Amino acid sequence: MKHPAAPVDVPACSCCGEPAVIYQPVSRRHLCGIHLVRDVEKRVASTINEAGQIHAGDRIAVALSGGKDSTALLVILSRLLPAWPGADLVAITVDEGIAGYRTDTIRAAEALTGRLGVDHRIVSFRDLVGADLDTLLAGRETEACTICGILRKKALTDAARTAGATAIATGHNLDDEAQSMLMNAFRGDLPRLVRNTGTGRSALFLPRIKPLAAVTEKEIAAYLFVQGLFSVLPECPYTRYALRAEVRSLLAGLEDRHPGTMQHLADSKKSIERYCAGTPVMESLHHCRECGDPCSGEICQVCRLRHSLGK
Ligand code: SF4
Ligand code: ZN
Repeated sequence: MKHPAAPVDVPACSCCGEPAVIYQPVSRRHLCGIHLVRDVEKRVASTINEAGQIHAGDRIAVALSGGKDSTALLVILSRLLPAWPGADLVAITVDEGIAGYRTDTIRAAEALTGRLGVDHRIVSFRDLVGADLDTLLAGRETEACTICGILRKKALTDAARTAGATAIATGHNLDDEAQSMLMNAFRGDLPRLVRNTGTGRSALFLPRIKPLAAVTEKEIAAYLFVQGLFSVLPECPYTRYALRAEVRSLLAGLEDRHPGTMQHLADSKKSIERYCAGTPVMESLHHCRECGDPCSGEICQVCRLRHSLGK
């Protein structure tokens, strides 16, 4: 029976009977705004605590693009932070140098960190390799996301070390995890799937944690929306070249017809990570001959890229 507060055609919240804003197909619950916010924050806290991702005294560098995932991540971490005495946050925004895209998201990141009182640093590809992504890509647009990903990871890691961070938190959500699982399978790249995790931790790396990994993109959007924190921002113009964009729409269709598909893929990814922890894939890492960063070959991806770009 519906709660009297819920209009006839709006499903009622499974917790309180108020009008629901979201349906969770896996748990088969409808939730109102208040219970959605509580549920999301509780699940993020569980993800962090179950994996021991944050400890007292940690300084967590939050990768803040200004988009919805990283916005939600910073908001949630700043609320959960008192649970770890002495822990603090520093937000890092990487400016790739993409015309018509980054200006708005940087402005959003600045406004958010100002409101939350979080230390905010901006680093750019220009600082790192002396040129914007737009310039670096001339004639190589189809490789945009590969090049961008390699440089962004390097810029973020360097800035996090400079800021004295003990770990890097990224806004990857459950949809991203499911997409990565499929993308690495499509590429036949199991080592990459394993290397990109924070579970097979190596002393060579600053740990990377993904506190939102159990929350769907839809839940994150609704979480921000019900709190008046959602804003529509421009999309990166290079998205159209990304394999991820195709995988995303493929998965969205599958999830529609077979609810729980993304959860199962994300679970498979976790199982593979567990099976591979401590295997030779992780142990074969050593130092880049040129820059000293951890890598699996003689020279790291960043140095290889620098050579190919003539930087
Ligand atoms: Fe970089 Fe590709 Fe994301 Fe654009 S879509 S910001 S090029 S990774
Ligand atoms: Zn290197």
